[in-house]
Amino acid sequence: MAILSIRIIGDPVLRTPAEEVTEFGPELAKLIEDMAETMADVRGAGLAAPQVGISKRIFTYSVDGAEGHVINPVIAASDDFAPDEPEGCLSVPGLGFSVRRHRWVRITGVDKNGGPLDMEATGLLAKCFQHETDHLDGKLYVDRLEGEDRKTALRAIRTANYHNVTAETLTKRARTVGSAFGAGAAG
Ligand code: ZN
Repeated sequence: MAILSIRIIGDPVLRTPAEEVTEFGPELAKLIEDMAETMADVRGAGLAAPQVGISKRIFTYSVDGAEGHVINPVIAASDDFAPDEPEGCLSVPGLGFSVRRHRWVRITGVDKNGGPLDMEATGLLAKCFQHETDHLDGKLYVDRLEGEDRKTALRAIRTANYHNVTAETLTKRARTVGSAFGAGAAG
């Protein structure tokens, strides 16, 4: 097991649509273990593989006692939306904004052994599934902001000088934000 370093906004891997997983074996299992350990270390609700520099369609999650991973996820969502609630991201440390998310999702995919997964979710878990699947499409939650929130977020990101601080500092900051939002801080 190992703690992986988390990529921060500005890293091109976060903007690259991730590839489908086609090989299942011990290497994949180890990556998922390391991702779960890294996510627990920073108290994240979710972590997508591109956030640790791996451009593959994999994420781990831990929300209100529901824990696991999904590979090659496909989401079907309800037409209605969940109540607004601030969302954070380990790759955009120090910020939190409300994003419009579907109230209900059905997510299908496979597990690390290639076995089928099929889950339904509402509440924070549904938001987490949408947030993490966005990561696999090269999308960050701040991209979904509109109006004043979008301006505020972009200004904060510009002035944050993420490249001037060490990865360690960022991890600590992410942890603080994670605690502040409780389970609301998705990966
Ligand atoms: Zn995220």
